[in-house]
Amino acid sequence: MDMDMIEGAVLIVVALVSAGGGFLMARAGWFPSSSARRSDPSTAHRAEVDRERRRNEEILQRMGEGVVVLDERLKPVFANASARRLLGLPEAALPSRLPSEQLATLAWRALREGRQMDQVLDVWFPARSNLRSHVTPLEASAGVVVVLQDVTQEVMTQRMRRQFVADASHELKSPVAGLQLLAEAVREAAKDDPAAVTTFATSIVKETDRLSRLIADLLDLSRLEEAGSVATTPVELSQIARSEIASASWAARGKEIAITDSVANAVWVRGEKSQLENLVRNLLDNAVRYTPEGGRIRVVVERDGADAVLSVHDDGIGIPLEAQSRVFERFYRVDSARSRETGGTGLGLAIVKHVTELHGGSVAVDSEVGSGSTFTVRLPATKSHDNVRSIAG
Ligand code: ADP
Repeated sequence: MDMDMIEGAVLIVVALVSAGGGFLMARAGWFPSSSARRSDPSTAHRAEVDRERRRNEEILQRMGEGVVVLDERLKPVFANASARRLLGLPEAALPSRLPSEQLATLAWRALREGRQMDQVLDVWFPARSNLRSHVTPLEASAGVVVVLQDVTQEVMTQRMRRQFVADASHELKSPVAGLQLLAEAVREAAKDDPAAVTTFATSIVKETDRLSRLIADLLDLSRLEEAGSVATTPVELSQIARSEIASASWAARGKEIAITDSVANAVWVRGEKSQLENLVRNLLDNAVRYTPEGGRIRVVVERDGADAVLSVHDDGIGIPLEAQSRVFERFYRVDSARSRETGGTGLGLAIVKHVTELHGGSVAVDSEVGSGSTFTVRLPATKSHDNVRSIAG
């Protein structure tokens, strides 16, 4: 939390209290009345103090951070609008206790030990949230000032990052362990079994392949996560689809899978060509991977109103309904063994989703086990002649 902001809030509260604490006292009869009685003979000075107090009150009320003042018995005597929202305090009267036990305990410790406390708290009411709470005791143990900042999003992002690192390490561990075993096997076989050496070496090549694909996907994903936005250069989706279909046909032919397409001319979107290529490639790779020999894949690119639509349909194994909402999660696989066996990394659809969202679009899956799957990506379309004009002009 920004220390200047906390100090600012505390100073304002202290200034208000020493200037008579009008609004605090009016709300709770808080603070000894002697402070309120401190009079100044000069009317001009009083007016100046009043103005200052109103300005401070307004700053406190409008702050994005929550500010709560508790008296020496930890009874809330003031809460600004943000604090009321964050803690679910009623608009009218303040409750006699803070609704968060954790926060009350932190405030109690700060008051008892006479020092500032800073902690991120889990709050369950009025909504599940994380509040960075900074508690400063007031002079003479008269109470505490609590400054609250909503860090829910930050905490969630950190949690997801930690989870991702843990998942990625777990995923990397198995091919590395496999390579180690294979290398040891080669060393043994090298003594007297040249045929086994060839077999193990072939497996080493396959495992290294999988490892480098996994690393490439991890890098792609982390680059996508870092990128806050994408280029707005017009890119021809039709042309990307055609060239990716051509590249996928080789693997498809190996499984006697026919790829047909209906790619409309000049369907343009704004964005990053390499990312869009990656998106189409991942959908096509999956279609080939999860379609048995002799299957069919169909790719459609078309304009639909303001959208550019890409759909990849296969008549493969399909995805159970309960798994359909999860396939875009990192490392989620319906059948781990099958995914690994066919060289999957578990990251393809997470990449597809990221690219789509970075381009302002959406992706959906429609699938039935045993009948096949259709992945549909919708992106905001742009007119091709915008591009021609910008190049020409
Ligand atoms: P993977 O590398 O395992 O294919 P993805 O993120 O691309 O990872 O896909 C996640 C999971 O979704 C896959 O493991 C698979 O179970 C399922 N899946 C993806 N595409 C298809 C498809 N076209 N047909 C059937 N299942 C699919």
